[in-house]
Amino acid sequence: MSSENASCAAGTLYVVSAPSGAGKTTLCRGLLQQFPDLSLSVSYTSRPSRPGERDGHDYHFVSAACFERMIDEGAFVEWARVHDNYYGTSLAVLRQASAAGQDLLLEIDVQGAEQLRLAGLPLVSIFIAPPSLAELRRRLEGRASDSATVVALRLENARTEMAAAERYDYLIVNDTLAQAQLQLQAIVLAQRCRSPRVLAQWRKRWLQE
Ligand code: 5GP
Repeated sequence: MSSENASCAAGTLYVVSAPSGAGKTTLCRGLLQQFPDLSLSVSYTSRPSRPGERDGHDYHFVSAACFERMIDEGAFVEWARVHDNYYGTSLAVLRQASAAGQDLLLEIDVQGAEQLRLAGLPLVSIFIAPPSLAELRRRLEGRASDSATVVALRLENARTEMAAAERYDYLIVNDTLAQAQLQLQAIVLAQRCRSPRVLAQWRKRWLQE
């Protein structure tokens, strides 16, 4: 689904994907600061929390068994296995945001984004790419937290994920963080100027006067 009909009074769904190490989390955090009325969908995951991560803030951390039960109950609008763990987006959160006309930001992998497209959900999809595979390797190796095996797995996954980039509405190459941040901000600003959304808000005011 493209950005053509993604902006209306119901709020916009922004989907951001990137290979691990491309800078997605940093860029999304920056975006949330720039747009305080944009809310982040906190995903569920079966992976253990990393040092510094908070339950309910970074993720809802649940066991694999709990996650599987939630799948059976239809709790997820999309879910996927990434790097051997489950990750999923709450259907309830999506419905609440839509009912409230709230813009929602989803940081999900390429499989999840594809499920949302197939479900026919109107969304604005943004792919963040590292400047090159060599640079991605350098960034991943620079993270003290990951073993050589984890780095190798993430690089392997990055090749598959990069192949999905063409299905996104926007592509940001994160060469310098400041420039990438500006581009992400520009996408949201432009989206907010799209006529269906502005017209809906403007008509309300026009009729009130
Ligand atoms: P990490 O474990 O490094 O936080 O995330 C690993 C990958 O899982 C990232 O690509 C991240 O975007 C993705 N991810 C996080 N939450 C979700 C989700 O709810 N659904 C899907 N499909 N992927 C997710």
